Amino acid sequence: IKRYFPLFDRHPSLVYLDTGATCPKPQEVIAAEREYEEAFSTNVGRGLYPLAEATTERFEAVRSQVARFIGAESEREIIFTSGTTASLNLAAALLAPTLRSDDHIITTELEHHSNALPWIELARAKNSTLHSAPFTQDGTIDVEALLSLINTETKVITLSALSNVFGTRNPITDIIKRIRSRNPETIVVIDAAQMAGHFPIDVTEWDADLVAFSGHKMYGPTGIGILFGKHTLLETFKPVVFGGGMVVDACADPAEYKESPFCFEAGTPNISGVIGLGAAITFLERIGFDTVRTHEKNLLAMTLVRMREHFADRIHILGTDDIEKRGGIISFVLDGIHPHDLAQVLGEHDISIRAGEHCAAPLHRKLGFSATARVSFGIYNTEEDVEKLISGIKNARALFDTKTPLHPSI
Ligand code: PLP
Repeated sequence: IKRYFPLFDRHPSLVYLDTGATCPKPQEVIAAEREYEEAFSTNVGRGLYPLAEATTERFEAVRSQVARFIGAESEREIIFTSGTTASLNLAAALLAPTLRSDDHIITTELEHHSNALPWIELARAKNSTLHSAPFTQDGTIDVEALLSLINTETKVITLSALSNVFGTRNPITDIIKRIRSRNPETIVVIDAAQMAGHFPIDVTEWDADLVAFSGHKMYGPTGIGILFGKHTLLETFKPVVFGGGMVVDACADPAEYKESPFCFEAGTPNISGVIGLGAAITFLERIGFDTVRTHEKNLLAMTLVRMREHFADRIHILGTDDIEKRGGIISFVLDGIHPHDLAQVLGEHDISIRAGEHCAAPLHRKLGFSATARVSFGIYNTEEDVEKLISGIKNARALFDTKTPLHPSI
């Protein structure tokens, strides 16, 4: 599968273990974007000549493809944005007019900043109450604690399907069912950024109201994302960004806007990004999520075993060892080596991992770590990558364990 990704032709020795940040793109995604730029390069939804009509047709076909990919009832439930961050900010902006000062918003302590800050700011602007549900020892949301925060004032609950730090999956269908039995009026928002591309998503089975994810974390282009919204809910929202392409009658007073999702997509969209996203979905569906999952699970199991084997007394791995509850992400801290030093030393040997707070400062603060190292897998990783990672960590440990001063003169 690695041969589908031109990045590895350009960098044959690269061990890329930062898929949680973004994915290299397969050739067919790059080709699809290029094909649009070279052979179409026209706008969507406005031109009346054949080339523009062909572009609109292709663009709208991807909307239908995304809807099928996530089990939405209709393509009218799919809003194109620039990424998960934009989708979650849009969700907060769409909900803002419906929020009163006595309403409550619930989020969790394991959220990425993109699913924390928009709600913190919304609560501040509306003078609403914001609760943050804790996580458990194994790195999943503490569901009982979350449920205990729900009352008749709870308007919005927002949580992630798969933590970008713990790597653990939250049982979304079950959580939403339990939320609805407490308060059926609550709007449930799901951050699926780390789920898309690794597990199938079924928004209808989840029964989620709004779901956000990014193209670039599922082998698609950067700058393209999705906000799914239940059709019945989207219909109740008013547009929050205004301009071309979303209006029926701009001379009316008040102006008359198109129906959803078009009224939420003002201006020229990222057309090549949408076309590339369609190619990424085709790519993923051809490989199949069973293959994706089996592959990532094997690498995950192998890495956890090797890490425990070689660094047992010195390593702290965040979250559970139960593979079934995990996606392909492992965050860890090694005694005696700062994660930044580890990432830098590995980087010098062409092994790319992430180090820092991973845009989840509250989570790190709660655990008492200023930073963690993070390894995250994609479909292109191999067992050889894992072996190189483990020997790279061993080398880094030896380097930092030495009693020799870093410089002879010190
Ligand atoms: N949510 C989670 C869980 C993430 O891991 C990320 C990115 O790492 C985001 C949201 C933000 O995604 P984007 O940068 O594509 O907007």
